[in-house]
Amino acid sequence: MAQLTPEQISNLDQQHVWHPYSSFTSPLAPFPVASTSGVRITLADGRELIDGMASWWSAVHGYGHPKLKQAAHDQIETMSHVMFGGLTHEPAVTLCEKLVKLAPQGLNKVFISDSGSVAVEVAIKMAFQYSLSQGNKQKNKLLTVKNGYHGDTFATMATCDPVNGMHHMFENVLSKHIFAQAPQCLFGEQFEEHHIADVKQKLETHHASIAAIILEPIVQGAGGMRFYSPDYLKRIRELCDEYKILLIADEIATGFGRTGKMFACEHAGISPDILCVGKALTGGFMSLAATLCTDKVAKGICEGEAGVFMHGPTFMGNPLACAVANASLDVLMEGHWPAQVAKIQTGLEKGLAPARALSQVKDVRVLGAIGVIELHEPVHMPTVQPMFVEEGVWVRPFGKLVYVLPPFIINEDDLAFLTNAMVKVVSKL
Ligand SMILES: *Cc1c(COP(=O)(O)O)cnc(C)c1O
Repeated sequence: MAQLTPEQISNLDQQHVWHPYSSFTSPLAPFPVASTSGVRITLADGRELIDGMASWWSAVHGYGHPKLKQAAHDQIETMSHVMFGGLTHEPAVTLCEKLVKLAPQGLNKVFISDSGSVAVEVAIKMAFQYSLSQGNKQKNKLLTVKNGYHGDTFATMATCDPVNGMHHMFENVLSKHIFAQAPQCLFGEQFEEHHIADVKQKLETHHASIAAIILEPIVQGAGGMRFYSPDYLKRIRELCDEYKILLIADEIATGFGRTGKMFACEHAGISPDILCVGKALTGGFMSLAATLCTDKVAKGICEGEAGVFMHGPTFMGNPLACAVANASLDVLMEGHWPAQVAKIQTGLEKGLAPARALSQVKDVRVLGAIGVIELHEPVHMPTVQPMFVEEGVWVRPFGKLVYVLPPFIINEDDLAFLTNAMVKVVSKL
């Protein structure tokens, strides 16, 4: 039970606690939360908010799903954690088997880790260690596209958008990779070969030094909330094959149904050589991520000079997180998500449509259970964040983007309430 008043929580928070991309001199203090349930966040002062963010793509079943809670309770009674070096257990092996079954074809080997950024670090290391094992010592670069986002650690930051990311500030410490133009052919548009000309030209020039192409399939998330053509992704796969370069698909945001397919790669009918998953893996209960690779990549790494893959987090394969992930995937496999996501897509299209008429709005776009209002100007967070809370919703814009990714279980009325609040707040900006 809570021991502190909302004011005491806020005071302590402002004295000692960093938040994501936060400042200790900012006028915008975080809102203390008391509890979460279903699609609702209850603030410590008693106000209830309808959640549009699913805690950053993760709480797909809503908060406190009974099957996930039960899995956590059961597992904690048996074994919360044990080291994964030299030991194994049922929660981890069943999770890996499920991931292999659900993932695009050929991704047979699974490396479990603690967070999305680490899963991408692992993917990058796999690509480089594979290249080294093949005797390709000169392959020390990645090719990626602008507007991407792959995490906040140093290897991943070096693949994020060079303008929206932190390249300028960390210029002297980041690895230098090769950036092609962001995919210009948007989702639903007719793909033409010139849309991929920049990637082709960069591959032609630099292929000997490139170990892998890394990108987010179909939906570029935190780097701009852009949706692009599946045909573009198909051509990327073909070009990787042509130049014998690995393809890393970062599905940390898009995985587990969010775009209307289990994995966004399915829109293009392709399989990557390496796949990263995270965010919704435990249904938003706790931090867990995984990197899947093909037998070819795994064999290549293991036959190389080191003989083993050189990575091993302390909390690798945490049984508690694996048990909850198993329960979350079981709930997905009950098969309700495609209809839920389709209904959310319809509700978002209808609910956000009035924003198109507003002069401050540049674009409104929806794909699966993702709804985006792009503005002409960046929002002023200290003003906008409290406006959403006043309207009874939790929406956290960034830059020019006011977007939602609600839990799949949201009902029609709550979704309409959410989109109405978005349109209302945007109309006042
Ligand atoms: C969130 C995200 C990451 C990083 O995951 P963390 O768990 O925040 O480290 C990487 N790639 C993509 C596409 C993401 O959306």
